[in-house]
Amino acid sequence: MPTYDVERLRRDYPILERQVYGKPLIYLDNTATSQTPRQVVEAVENMYYAHKANVHRGVFSLSQEATAMQEATREKVRDYINAASTSEIIFTRGTTEGINLVASSFGSFFENGDEIILTAMEHHADIVPWQLLGMRKRINIRVVPVHKDGTLDLDAYRSLFNERTRLVAFTHVSNVLGTVNPVKEMTAYAHSLDVPVLCDGAQAAPHMAIDVADLDVDFYAFSSHKMYGPAGVGVLYGKESFLEKMPPYQGGGEMISHVSFKKTTFADLPFKFEAGTPDFVDIAAFSACIDYIRSVGIDAIAAHEHELLEWTTAEMMKIPGMRIFGTAPGKCAVISFLMGDAHHYDTGMLLDKLGIAVRTGHHCAQPLMETLGIEGTVRASFALYNTRAEAEAFIAALHRIAPLLGIE
Ligand code: PLP
Repeated sequence: MPTYDVERLRRDYPILERQVYGKPLIYLDNTATSQTPRQVVEAVENMYYAHKANVHRGVFSLSQEATAMQEATREKVRDYINAASTSEIIFTRGTTEGINLVASSFGSFFENGDEIILTAMEHHADIVPWQLLGMRKRINIRVVPVHKDGTLDLDAYRSLFNERTRLVAFTHVSNVLGTVNPVKEMTAYAHSLDVPVLCDGAQAAPHMAIDVADLDVDFYAFSSHKMYGPAGVGVLYGKESFLEKMPPYQGGGEMISHVSFKKTTFADLPFKFEAGTPDFVDIAAFSACIDYIRSVGIDAIAAHEHELLEWTTAEMMKIPGMRIFGTAPGKCAVISFLMGDAHHYDTGMLLDKLGIAVRTGHHCAQPLMETLGIEGTVRASFALYNTRAEAEAFIAALHRIAPLLGIE
């Protein structure tokens, strides 16, 4: 196996040459969004400079080229996540829209008194759409608790099912704790009771191979911008057997077969769920993004990130008063922490002055913060281009700011 050449990879990311407050930028907010390599930006540029035309509408060559590029991406995504057919690949704006689509469309089948199961570690994107549905019908949300180490209480999970359970929706990887949930096992249990499963893959897709056939989930949503791709594109995978029966999510151009004022018929899958002009420029570039991840190798990326995670966590634990939230075995490279009683904003602002970008706050997971009994954390997360030297600089920075925060 070729060695992992992080310095060569870093040259693909001009932003990493930036300085902040006169210090080299150390970007550790990859969970929120990851940086985009030259190859993907060039694919965006190529689309604008050479192929821009609206898709699925023109007989002229340019439009047909743009359409072919969009549909080639769909096939590439299908292959990448091992879906059975391109009919199962719906382009969205991101994970959030994918989950809203399912809540709105699949949720239209729910009746008053029906129940869904979520987990205490969900991002707001997998909570609020279900609450909005709950404003239209009386839906009970049942919540799987989280153990102290950040793993789910699977006994409690199994105990939450009953004859009114209509769907389980949970994240593959927690954006706060880094926990990798046992999707296959949880899905098999739900299916044994005929309950379908939606999995939020926003934090898994950038860090591990996704095989929807193996996981057997019914819906899987993820975002390009967290996978080194352009913002504004996401994918919702859905099993054809469900998508076929589900009503459209939004109405407009592209999603119809025929429109009259008396009756409209809808387009076939996947277009039934893609109303209006899609973000065809970024969709085409997303193809380059999958090529890029494949060329580096998702397993090599995961191994590199894991090494950084292990080393950094061990060094952080040497700092007095350090609290790390999420210690599940096999977790992803996300470290949520608090230093003594210091406010997370203060820690984040001091790190920024040293050129280090970390996220602070509740990370769109306020119910999880409530469970942890805190208001927020500081979160450092790694991507394929982060280096050991950056991790060392991060640790040195924590030691440097500790006295300013009343620690050490
Ligand atoms: N789900 C999880 C677990 C996330 O971490 C995020 C974003 O941070 C989302 C959903 C929402 O993703 P997007 O904002 O790309 O729709």
